[in-house]
Amino acid sequence: MDFDFREEHLIFARSVRDFAEREIAPLVEEAERKEEYPVELFPKMGELGYLCIMCPEEYGGAGADRVSECLLTEELGRVCLGIASGFLSHSSVSTATLLHFGSEEQKRKYLVPAIKGEKVAAFGLTEPNAGSDVASLETTAKRAGDGYLLNGTKTLITNATIADFVVVAAYLDKSKGSKGIALFVVERGTPGFAQPKKLHKFGMLSADLGELFFEDCPLPRESLVGEEEGGFVKIMQVLNSGRMVVGARAVGLAQAAYEAAVNYARERVQFGRPIGKFQAIAFKLADMLTQIEAARLLVYRSAWLYDQGRPCIAEASMAKLFATEMAVHVSGEALQIHGGYGFMVDSPVQRYFRDAKFGTVVEGTSEIQRLIISRQIGL
Ligand SMILES: Cc1cc2nc3c(=O)[nH]c(=O)nc-3n(C[C@H](O)[C@H](O)[C@H](O)COP(=O)(O)OP(=O)(O)OC[C@H]3O[C@@H](n4cnc5c(N)ncnc54)[C@H](O)[C@@H]3O)c2cc1C
Repeated sequence: MDFDFREEHLIFARSVRDFAEREIAPLVEEAERKEEYPVELFPKMGELGYLCIMCPEEYGGAGADRVSECLLTEELGRVCLGIASGFLSHSSVSTATLLHFGSEEQKRKYLVPAIKGEKVAAFGLTEPNAGSDVASLETTAKRAGDGYLLNGTKTLITNATIADFVVVAAYLDKSKGSKGIALFVVERGTPGFAQPKKLHKFGMLSADLGELFFEDCPLPRESLVGEEEGGFVKIMQVLNSGRMVVGARAVGLAQAAYEAAVNYARERVQFGRPIGKFQAIAFKLADMLTQIEAARLLVYRSAWLYDQGRPCIAEASMAKLFATEMAVHVSGEALQIHGGYGFMVDSPVQRYFRDAKFGTVVEGTSEIQRLIISRQIGL
């Protein structure tokens, strides 16, 4: 057994932390207040090779492993979950789908500029009547001439209003059940495609979230990602194998909440001593750190399994489930340690507390993770 990160992983994590603290942290407050995603970060992230980091070098990617992707995401999550979510949706879901299943032409056309941060990607799966039950989606694609006509509505889509292209799931043949789902890449500006509405959330204020509308939207044949069927399996493969990255983002948030709580426990004096000297507070911090470390182990072990080419569906789900639930608990404890000040809008811990809940809902809710793990048990 070897629990050490490789030297290059440690150097990489340090460089991401420097970048995140220097370039992202100063933008957080304004981005959250204005509810505007700082899109100017995309080319900066691209220049450093931080976008779509697992993409091979032949497309301009860094060809990094999953452990590196988790380190990157943990550091981004530590600074701002809302901003981290935009990069993760761009890199780990949308473009990952194109990398694994797209044509060479699609990779050149979409992946290459996405890696550079010249184009922003989104992933359109969720609909008003289809969330956890992906197979119940209502968006349809019909063959029309040499291409397709797309109709439907997607909701709760990260990067919705800033995306230059979206990977969209739609039924091409409903009679085949979930096998009849196909994936398409739809470009901003395509007739009948509207990406107008920003949705307002109580957390992750800097993240761009919105709806996508497709009305008789003409798509060329080349917009099909892979074959005309099997889109459901493709989506599940991308989501299932990458869930530890969502866990890494939650670990980063919890780490930030914990650090803020330790600092406050050292500074805040009550009854003539720093509150950290009271066992009730010290034990809280000990429990928080223990839980963060446990989540971290699950995240990096599942990433390591992925990098070894070993099965990791249950492990990735466990990492996502435990880390995101842990982040909700730890950020709540951090707020508790801050007392009344924690409840104020200028306290950083209230943001961690609001943002943490996002993790237990997206990319498969906690209940769906338990479903996946129990199926892996064979139940
Ligand atoms: C900030 C944010 C960003 C998002 N970004 C994206 C994005 O970029 N792209 C995208 O496609 N989607 C995105 N989503 C949508 C997200 O993936 C869905 O919200 C999630 O999949 C859950 O679907 P739902 O909201 O429809 O809840 P539902 O599926 O309606 O679930 C409601 C409740 O029922 C439970 N439940 C459902 N089925 C079962 C079951 N079989 N067993 C037990 N419990 C069950 C759920 O766990 C949940 O508690 C985003 C959501 C948010 C909040």
